[in-house]
Amino acid sequence: MTVGIVGAGQLGRMLALAGYPLGLDFLFLDPAGDAPAGRVAPLLQGPFTDPKLLSRLARECAVLTFDWENISVAALRAHAASVHGARICPPVTALAAAQDRVAEKRLFERLRIPTTHWQAVGSRAQLERALRRIGVPGVLKTRRLGYDGKGQVIVRAREDAHRAWEELGGVPLIYEEWVPFDCEVSIIGARNASGAIAVYPLNGNVHSQGILRLTRAPYGPPRWQRAAARHLERCLTHFRYVGVLTIEFFVRGGRLIANEMAPRVHNSGHWTIEGCVTSQFENHLRAILDMPLGATRATGFSAMVNLIGDIPRREGLLASDGLHLHDYGKQPRPGRKVGHCTFVEPTAARRDRRARRLLAELAPGLRIP
Ligand code: AMP
Repeated sequence: MTVGIVGAGQLGRMLALAGYPLGLDFLFLDPAGDAPAGRVAPLLQGPFTDPKLLSRLARECAVLTFDWENISVAALRAHAASVHGARICPPVTALAAAQDRVAEKRLFERLRIPTTHWQAVGSRAQLERALRRIGVPGVLKTRRLGYDGKGQVIVRAREDAHRAWEELGGVPLIYEEWVPFDCEVSIIGARNASGAIAVYPLNGNVHSQGILRLTRAPYGPPRWQRAAARHLERCLTHFRYVGVLTIEFFVRGGRLIANEMAPRVHNSGHWTIEGCVTSQFENHLRAILDMPLGATRATGFSAMVNLIGDIPRREGLLASDGLHLHDYGKQPRPGRKVGHCTFVEPTAARRDRRARRLLAELAPGLRIP
């Protein structure tokens, strides 16, 4: 059985690597001929909106999924779902909500999931109103196409608002309060077409310049896990979701505040490959093929460190006891995620000590709560 994947980045590559033991085949679509998943599976090279290529993907595959959310919902509907009746998982309704920060905020509010104070901004006058209502500090973000901290400018004082508008203006924006969070966490879970749900242990995430640097899991007290799982299950049920879904939260004074959701496998779940009974990648495939979901129990205390820009000291990393290196085969470039490494320790204290030691080398100055 062949799974079609729109987007052939590292997430797609890890999906394929998780699917081969289940006897699955893969076909990818990506504009980049050297995309990471193209090294492990056949790749149709062309735009994500190409009608011919989307049609071919829909014809040749039992189900279509995606590893990147900034793809065209309209093209997927027009060339894959309407013409060929292809099953697209997760549902495009969830994809559409995740593509627009305003739709996402409205969804959180409708499902009674606490989120930041926000206001849609389409003009300078609306920005002025948002500043009056929400105050500073805040952050001005593009409603669409933002990722890894791109498309957002912090507004520390009212005078910054003009510069932020100049930098981002011209496209629909959202202004939201700046949350002086204690830490950031994310929850990942899967739902299959039969409605079974499996939720992973909570991830504790540390970002640097908007890019995820470190994930530790399991993380935080049981009540954070319970609250995050409750919020996630509401979203999964709302969309009759099929596949893996992720929600990211700020934690302030023990309260979880939703930041955003991703309708796909997530960087903060890479640790599940070595640190869980069933990885997020395998469970995404099980979910979209309506197979029973695998256990999401952690086998220890994991840390995942993203390798950004290039893979440093490969020999040293490989020599580190029990460290798993994942090289995505990408060309080195500043700010680019080119790989990650994971280790699993028997206690949280040992994991945290080791993570601090490794990050002191790779990202000196990073503050780890
Ligand atoms: P995002 O693309 O919205 O996930 O933002 C990337 C990162 O920027 C987040 O993980 C936070 O570390 C930081 N960030 C974004 N929005 C806010 C906010 N409203 N308050 C505090 N930090 C934020």
